[in-house]
Amino acid sequence: MSVRIRAAVAWEAGAKLSIEEFDLDDPRDDEILVRVEATGVCHTDESSRLGLLPVVYPIILGHEGSGTVEAAGKDVTRVKAGDKVLFTPDYCGTCEQCVLGYTPYCEQAVPVTFTGTRPDGSPRAHAAGGRPVRASFFGQSSFATHSLVTERNIVPVPRDAPLHYLAGFTCGVQTGAGVMLNAIGVAPHQTVAVFGTGAVGLAAVMAAHASGAREIV
Ligand SMILES: [Zn+2]
Ligand SMILES: [Zn+2]
Repeated sequence: MSVRIRAAVAWEAGAKLSIEEFDLDDPRDDEILVRVEATGVCHTDESSRLGLLPVVYPIILGHEGSGTVEAAGKDVTRVKAGDKVLFTPDYCGTCEQCVLGYTPYCEQAVPVTFTGTRPDGSPRAHAAGGRPVRASFFGQSSFATHSLVTERNIVPVPRDAPLHYLAGFTCGVQTGAGVMLNAIGVAPHQTVAVFGTGAVGLAAVMAAHASGAREIV
């Protein structure tokens, strides 16, 4: 069985994204089917479209997704149909970095993020005629009407949460804030310089301010 979706696919490096219909697998026991309601656009999507990152084509891009749970496999306990979730980058969950809680430094980050398949190599989606289409970019491929995700890479939010505002938290905001709060660990009265003020840079400015930075350039 499968779910008919519409999604923006990159058929090959450098090609324009093409919005087409695909068949997305039904959720496996550990997977969650989400109707996507909002997704950000990150420069990593564009770099991936252009072939500047180690993506494998054809692939459905998008990795700042959010939406409403439509169905969940029998092993899923944290959410049920109707719940709202944000997607966050997936990780393997078993390597040393993941076990220590440093999931952004997952040793399998490149294959998990860019090959666009499940860990067993299955693509999650197919085009007409059965051609495999990778629908697990960052574990989500959110440029689509629906995504398959797992409990590893969702953040449940209240049912009245404004998803169109929150979607950007799932890459840009957590990246910029994470640099200040975790990677650098800005201390009160330090001076911080931020180069570039897109989602990442503005989040870094806000996190530096919240950390008590004395001067923010
Ligand atoms: Zn991103
Ligand atoms: Zn890992």
